Amino acid sequence: MSTNSDFRRVYLDHSATTPVDKRVLNEMLPYFSDKFGNANSIHGFGAEAALAVDTARRKTAELIGAKHTEIYFTSGGTEADNWAIKGAAFAKKSVGKHIITSSIEHPAVIASCKQLEAQGFEVTYLPVNEKGLVSTTELKKALRPDTVLVSVMLANNEVGTVQPVKELCEIAHKAGALFHTDAVQAMGSVPVSVKDLGVDMLTFSAHKFYGPKGVGALYIRGGVKPDKFVVGGHQERTMRGGTTNVPCVVGMAKALELATESLAENAAHIKKLRDYFVSEVEKKIPHVIYNGDREKRLPQNANFSFEFIEGESLLLNLDLCGIACSSGSACSSGSLEPSHVLLAMGLKHETAHGSIRFTFGKDNTKQDADYAVEKLIEIVSKLRAISPLFAEFKEGIINV
Ligand code: PLP
Repeated sequence: MSTNSDFRRVYLDHSATTPVDKRVLNEMLPYFSDKFGNANSIHGFGAEAALAVDTARRKTAELIGAKHTEIYFTSGGTEADNWAIKGAAFAKKSVGKHIITSSIEHPAVIASCKQLEAQGFEVTYLPVNEKGLVSTTELKKALRPDTVLVSVMLANNEVGTVQPVKELCEIAHKAGALFHTDAVQAMGSVPVSVKDLGVDMLTFSAHKFYGPKGVGALYIRGGVKPDKFVVGGHQERTMRGGTTNVPCVVGMAKALELATESLAENAAHIKKLRDYFVSEVEKKIPHVIYNGDREKRLPQNANFSFEFIEGESLLLNLDLCGIACSSGSACSSGSLEPSHVLLAMGLKHETAHGSIRFTFGKDNTKQDADYAVEKLIEIVSKLRAISPLFAEFKEGIINV
C-alpha cells in the first residue's frame, strides 16, 4: 500500500461534481454581500441584481443556441428533470398519458416517471444494447398515438455513452410527441446546441462544469408549455417560484462561458488522459471489462468491471490511497443494489457489482493517471487474493 512519501490526492470523480473555477467564484462573490439585492425588488438594489440575472440568462441562452426567454433557472438538474417530465405530462394529459424514456436514465428522470405511473400514466422504458445505446428502431416501435413525451439523456452519467438525441428527437416529433433531454453530463464536455438537437426541453446543472452546486436550468422552447412545478412567487416569468439565487446563476453563466471557450482544448486533454488510463488498465490488469461504447462516449468517462471483486471494496481501498472515484453513480452510493444502467446493458449481477467509474477533469495530469493505475494493480491483486470467487475461478469451478 502507499507510503507517506508517495501518497497523492487524485480526484477522478468529475461526473459526481467539479471544483468551482476561481474565475467563476470571483464573478459570484460580489452578489453575496455588496450586490445582495433581491432580483425581484423594485428599488436600486433589486435592479442591480436583476441586471446580473438578465445578463446571466442572455449569456447562458446564447451559449446553447437558445433565446433568453427560453431559459428558466432551477435549483439544479434534479429539479429541471422533475419539472420537464411531470410538467409536460400534466400539461398534455388530455391528449395522452403515455411517456417514453430509456432504462438508463438518471434517478431524477426514472423516479419522476415512477411517480407518474402511480398517478395513472403509462411509461415505456426503452432497452439499450450492450454498449448502453438507445436505438431509433426501439423508439419507433414504442411510440403510440397517445405518447406525449419522450425523454432520453444526451450522455449517461455512469458509462458516458452519448445517445443519438437529434435522430431520436426527429422521430418523436414526427409522431407528435415532445422531446426532453437530460444534458447534465454532456454540458461542458461535448458541444450542446438546442437548435442543432431540435429538442423541446433540455436540463443542465452548473456543478458538472466547474460552476457552483445547487443551480441549474431548464431550457423550454418557445411555445412549449409544461405545467409549473415549483409554485410560489412570480419569479422566472411566473413559471418557477422562489427567490432567484443570484450568485449561483451568475456563476453558472460564467462557468458555461469558460467551459465553452475551452471545450475543444479541455476535451482533447481529458480524452488523451482517459485513453491512456484505459489502455494501461487493460494492458496491466487481467479480467477487466471496459463498460460502454468506445467511440460514442464522453471524453472524461472510464467505467470498468473488475471481475471477482466488489466495487465498494475497491473504491474504499482506492480512497485510502487518496484516489476518489465512484461505484455506480454518487446518488446511488447509499444502495448496495448493482447499477440499473449496467444491468440494463446486460451485465451479470456479480460483474455489475465489481464496477467502478473514473471520470477525469481538466486539472488531472499523467502523473495522476499513472498513480491510479499503480494503486489499482496493487489493490485488485490484494482483493482477488482473498476473493472466494477468484479461488473458484482458478480451480476451474466457475467461468467468467
Ligand atoms: N442528471 C444526470 C445525468 C446527472 O448526472 C445528475 C447528477 O449527477 C443529475 C441529473 C442531477 O443533477 P443535480 O445534481 O444538479 O441535481
